[in-house]
Amino acid sequence: TRRIALAARPVGEPRASDFRTEQTELPALRDGDVLLRIVYLSLDPYMRGRMSTARSYAQPMEIGDTMVGGTVAQVVESRARSLAVGDYVLSYSGWQTHAVAPARLLRKLDPRLAPLSTALGVLGMPGFTAYVGLKEIGKPLAGETLVVAAASGPVGATVGQLAKIRHARIVGIAGGAEKCRYLVDELNFDEAIDHRAADFAAQLEDACPRGIDVYFENVGGAVWSAVLPLLNDFARIPVCGLVAQYNATDVPAGPDRMPGLMREILSRHLTLRGFIQSDFAHLQRDFEREMSVWLQAGRIRYREDIVDGLDHAPEAFIGLLRGKNFGKLIVRVADE
Ligand code: NDP
Repeated sequence: TRRIALAARPVGEPRASDFRTEQTELPALRDGDVLLRIVYLSLDPYMRGRMSTARSYAQPMEIGDTMVGGTVAQVVESRARSLAVGDYVLSYSGWQTHAVAPARLLRKLDPRLAPLSTALGVLGMPGFTAYVGLKEIGKPLAGETLVVAAASGPVGATVGQLAKIRHARIVGIAGGAEKCRYLVDELNFDEAIDHRAADFAAQLEDACPRGIDVYFENVGGAVWSAVLPLLNDFARIPVCGLVAQYNATDVPAGPDRMPGLMREILSRHLTLRGFIQSDFAHLQRDFEREMSVWLQAGRIRYREDIVDGLDHAPEAFIGLLRGKNFGKLIVRVADE
């Protein structure tokens, strides 16, 4: 297999030299195993956390490990009764061209039900994250205002559209005019704001004349600072991700704003709740059933940003943390 391994722990923004491409031998198949040909590799912001040793919900990778990641793959050899040659599966095989895996850890995919790549996006982990964060924590009501950033990405775009199905008013935040136009024109968001605009905080305030009832937190940093003063009493904040901070090397200088934040949480009855999508594994079946219906009915739309070739994965991943992607970022490792 050709694989990309973690060569060094990044300091700040990852660099090409933090990754190493190499050729390795795969282990022999044992009973119950299959040999996989990777077709699609998902690139996700959480991978930045796995590259460093900072305390997190998941174990860090070791130097020399294959970069982790969700994949869609095809079975090319099988020693498992449940999977035949030619079957497609969802696997967690990481940044490589081939892998050996026990069939019991794989989920078979039906290419007739949905495009295979959606198993990594809208019908996969990011879509599920949006679904559970809203259902269990955000709980937007009709007429309430929901704000979400990284709004053109797979989590944010799904959050906005799901909240729209619940008749909330949706304000999306994204980087650049093209992404903002997409949110309003294609996804029916009520407003979209560019977080890079000099008067971003003022624009956000204008877009939320009745304050913010749900803030789905994907980015942290300056966006969160602009959102906080606009939160209504009893606002709900699913804390899903802090992508603006993943490359940070130290805390920003300035006064300690923690006491002020605690006062806001108390006096405005705020609910902030961090979550990891796997906390809600029991909702997976409901998600798949409901999301398939919404997708087929065209009520949820999605956009993918597909990069060709495993060798381009490091560069694409570095771009993801800078907002260079437009839609769910996927590497096409091989043709279907
Ligand atoms: P995206 O495809 O949306 O990619 C990340 C986006 O973040 C970029 O495209 C960029 O969009 C935006 N961004 C980067 N830096 C900044 C910044 N400084 N300020 C504002 N926006 C920024 O990723 P996903 O949809 O896959 O993930 C979204 C979030 O959800 C991430 O924080 C991720 O870690 C989190 N997540 C959490 C899970 C959980 O279980 N808790 C599971 C899955 C994802 P733009 O151009 O618009 O700025």
